[in-house]
Amino acid sequence: MSSGPATTEGFGSGCFKGAVADKYLSKYGESATLLANGNWTKDMAKADIVAKAVLDWAVDNGASVYCHWFQPMGSSGVRHGNSGQVHQSMFDFAADGTPFYSFTGEQLLQGETDGSSYPNGGMRATHTAGGYLSIDPSSPIFLREDTVFIPAGFVSYNGDALDEKTPLHRATTALDKQTKRMLKAMGYDVGSASVYANIGLEQEIFLVPRHAYYRRPDLQFTGRTITGKFPARGQEMSDHYMAPISRATAAFECMRQIQQECFKMGIPLKTRHREVAPNQYEFAPMFGNAISQVDQNLMIMQIIEEVASEHGLAALLQEKPFDGINGSGKHNNWSIGTSDGLNLMNPKQVNAKTGNAEIFPLVMAAMVSAIDKHGDLMRLAIASPGNDFRLGAMEAPPAVMSTYLGPSITEFMNNVKNGTLGTYTPQKKPLNFGTDSIPSIEVPAEDRNRTSPFPYGGNRFEFRAAGSSQNVAMVNTVLNTIAAEAFGIVADRLEKGDKALSIAQDLLTKHDKCVFNGNGYDPEWPDEAVKRGVWRIDAGCDAINELDSAKNVDLFEKMGIFSARECEARKSVLLGHYIGSVEMEALTMIDMINQHVIPSVKRADLGNPGKLNDAVKTLKGAIASIHAAAESDEHKAAQIARKMRLETMVSIRDVIDEFEGRCPPEDWTLATYQELLFLDTHPESDYV
Ligand code: ADP
Ligand code: MG
Repeated sequence: MSSGPATTEGFGSGCFKGAVADKYLSKYGESATLLANGNWTKDMAKADIVAKAVLDWAVDNGASVYCHWFQPMGSSGVRHGNSGQVHQSMFDFAADGTPFYSFTGEQLLQGETDGSSYPNGGMRATHTAGGYLSIDPSSPIFLREDTVFIPAGFVSYNGDALDEKTPLHRATTALDKQTKRMLKAMGYDVGSASVYANIGLEQEIFLVPRHAYYRRPDLQFTGRTITGKFPARGQEMSDHYMAPISRATAAFECMRQIQQECFKMGIPLKTRHREVAPNQYEFAPMFGNAISQVDQNLMIMQIIEEVASEHGLAALLQEKPFDGINGSGKHNNWSIGTSDGLNLMNPKQVNAKTGNAEIFPLVMAAMVSAIDKHGDLMRLAIASPGNDFRLGAMEAPPAVMSTYLGPSITEFMNNVKNGTLGTYTPQKKPLNFGTDSIPSIEVPAEDRNRTSPFPYGGNRFEFRAAGSSQNVAMVNTVLNTIAAEAFGIVADRLEKGDKALSIAQDLLTKHDKCVFNGNGYDPEWPDEAVKRGVWRIDAGCDAINELDSAKNVDLFEKMGIFSARECEARKSVLLGHYIGSVEMEALTMIDMINQHVIPSVKRADLGNPGKLNDAVKTLKGAIASIHAAAESDEHKAAQIARKMRLETMVSIRDVIDEFEGRCPPEDWTLATYQELLFLDTHPESDYV
């Protein structure tokens, strides 16, 4: 099956904005400018017009169903598409039962659902089940197949956020407000423009043969292999990295179709390449407003899973599907911009547009203070269960929250700290290829750093530690909130008459200990970081436990992001999600031992499987102790789960993998790493 190339033709036809929206709104005397801000949602006559136009567009594109599309908490790695939706037909019935198309402004703007079964951390009693949905007009309505998706926020009857989107909006509002205050106090008025985070998300995935996936209960249930002998070939020669996407495998058509489907929905998925581990791939879109980028990333992940299945493949979004080779991340490239195109992280632009060279160093000093104060929250935001196996394992930065600024900015900031405030101008240097036949080029004077969790890269920060399966709304909620707080503190002082230089000096003196330009993979760095007083939290579940610490509740309440109650509830959901994920893995391991490994060991006469029976007992005991602890202390239960996962299950795996290494392939009923990981050489491999 050939999906044909993605072309600009039809780009965004499934996304209700720009020219597409214009065409349908103009029939009712409006244009796409109506959608430029959310004001139309406050005027039912306008909402009725938008609903009519959406209905016409839907019918023209073969859709007759709509839903409010929302993002329940605790979804990563377990919920297909990370979203919730109830589909409603866009037609009504006349008295005689004849159907006719109908879609009203009221239906477009809000929805209500029986929200009783979503994780809510105790914010809603079982008997008060309502979950309420309201349209998010900042993220475009989109269409896929027969359904119109209306991005929406999701809260309880009391207005407590039950989702990932609502807090990101609150944090974006805080960022807008505090950035404007700071800039105004520095003599730059952004006027009617708004301020928000721009992000670009690099999505890594694995594509494995689907028939082999069906012979892996662990991949099916938990997204990662819990056992598996390492094959004779891994990623030691990095031969997969950026190699051609072979047409001899299903991956080529699959990636092409993913890209094409995204294009139709207006998702600018520009980049595709192979990643370093065998069968690992990456997509990256053109960056944009964080709120719609998060939405689009969820759709990208959903499309990846669905399209892969149509090509005989299974897409793995989990952070660490295979031991011994790289896992998958989702680099969260993040900058702060205004709607009229100023990027606050781009020194040249800031200097030119604001005419004030003091703004950029002040922004950077504030960012340094934010990272240093709230590294615990950054760590928490990336504490997805799969990241337990990545952080600090020489493939992703350690669980230490430092930032890399690069030598020349660091030198510049050191001068600021010592009382000299010049103008920072990024330098370029010529790069010569050692031959006149290939022209020399100009490159930034700063190299990149891939071992820092949060390096600055000339016009953005790159949060490199986010996990591939995550909804990164919380990541950006945290980044926006901590930046907003820092800018607010700067604004307070400027408004009191303090000078920019002395504010920057104070912030850097207190907080530049989190700047680390060295090798983040150096085994000595984590200890050194602790000595410096930089946030280091090795266990994701311990980071989650910080969500309702006094410091963090104070921050979130002050910035209008979460109430104390919402912090506690979210912490409980995240701990429950962690414990639940690990428990599924342990139960799957028990089934795999009993249903596959022991029978294989017996069939191939590999010796006494007594150790395996003991392992099952050990696992059952550990699960029981997690349950017992969870009654009174979820954090403790999560810690026990983590120990079981990283210690007990790892040593049990060694026993299983040793048996696998001696078992003839025809007697081993689980798909092997060899079958799962080498599309290029084993596309149809199946030893059973
Ligand atoms: P890399 O070379 O780091 O792998 P990629 O091209 O794969 O880079 O991805 C970089 C991502 O960063 C893209 O999504 C890109 O659009 C995004 N990006 C670029 N500039 C900015 C910026 N100023 N703010 C936010 N994201 C950005
Ligand atoms: Mg990349």
